[in-house]
Amino acid sequence: MNAYDNALRQLEKAAKLIKLDKEVVARLSAPEKVAMASLPVKMDDGSLQIFQGYRVQYNSARGPYKGGIRFHPQVDLDEVKALAFWMAIKCAVVDIPMGGGKGGVVVNPKSLSQSELEKLARTWIRSFRDIVGPEKDIPAPDVYTNPQIMAWMADEYSQLVGKPSLGVVTGKPLEFGGSKGRESATAMGGFYILQEAVKEQNLEPKKLKVAIQGFGNAGSIMAKLLYDAGYKVVALADSKGMIYNSRGFNIDKVIEHKRTKKSIRTFPGAKKITTEEFFALKIDVLVPAALENQITKDNAEDIQAGIIVELANGPTTPEADDILYENKVVVIPDVLANAGGVTVSYFEWLQNTSHNYWSEEEVDKELRERMIPAWQAISQAAEEYKIDLRTAAFIVALDRLAKAIKIKN
Ligand code: GLU
Repeated sequence: MNAYDNALRQLEKAAKLIKLDKEVVARLSAPEKVAMASLPVKMDDGSLQIFQGYRVQYNSARGPYKGGIRFHPQVDLDEVKALAFWMAIKCAVVDIPMGGGKGGVVVNPKSLSQSELEKLARTWIRSFRDIVGPEKDIPAPDVYTNPQIMAWMADEYSQLVGKPSLGVVTGKPLEFGGSKGRESATAMGGFYILQEAVKEQNLEPKKLKVAIQGFGNAGSIMAKLLYDAGYKVVALADSKGMIYNSRGFNIDKVIEHKRTKKSIRTFPGAKKITTEEFFALKIDVLVPAALENQITKDNAEDIQAGIIVELANGPTTPEADDILYENKVVVIPDVLANAGGVTVSYFEWLQNTSHNYWSEEEVDKELRERMIPAWQAISQAAEEYKIDLRTAAFIVALDRLAKAIKIKN
């Protein structure tokens, strides 16, 4: 299960359906540039540790490269390539003038002290200083990176170029060039699309049971949004375990528990369940909000949920997609479901470059105005071609990317 192979299969499937120009397919079948660096960090104990760092600049036909940096022990080049490709598709889906990029470091950030983490963040941006920049390539948070890490990177870059240059990364803290609404944007975007799907199917949120895999920025905020909207969140998972409560969790309490105890696993009154049980639960909505390749040919058949909202990138393999489509499960694909994050990143970048900051209401209004038309265009394409929403999203995005690529030929 290689994420990049999966990404290329998704491209091939959509390209075939719309008979996409061969040159466009060729350009999108490989990244424009791949950069790798050894990142030396002096650890607190005085030893030197070298971390492997990556930046993949996949496609810039529609604008500067855009996409997060992941800190995770399992990061590898093919994963970063897949994530960078999905960013190019995602930005086209929500029609923002940005290309696709992604970065990573092979590291378990939970094992680093704050000062080691700061050194790693500053070293990353120093190592890639020639290829990133507010007009070139704009990183952001991803799995296990956060606003604090973005602040260190923006500060380091500003020092390197000798002037404040906050637009070099997005997802920064509010006090340092961040945008209102950026922290909640990924979940919020997914929530808006889910609400549209729920309306379309004439379902009632209060009657819907939800399971969420992942309790980081995307998963925990989605849990809170759903809980506040009356959905019953019956199952949760983080990297340490999975829990179930048939009556539904009080998400405020779970968030507090996670904050103090570092995991949801020990939440009082919850039943611990296995991964197998988690994916076979009798629920209505499943929200993968962790890593790639979670829904596979081995568990897709067990899934009872009628709707899947992919807040994670690449959680479903192509084989699983076929099974889910056959079983009439509506999969709201990552490139749409989690596109709220990069959309508000783009707003943040606009605010940094114009020095004019928006209110929360403005951000929210602009976010809706990107997400809802994207959903409508994708639903329409799905109907027209009688296909799943992922392939429909690719069709919408590829059409936009192809136009940008061809106009320069
Ligand atoms: N890491 C997020 C994603 O996968 C956000 C990227 C960004 O804001 O540039 O979409």
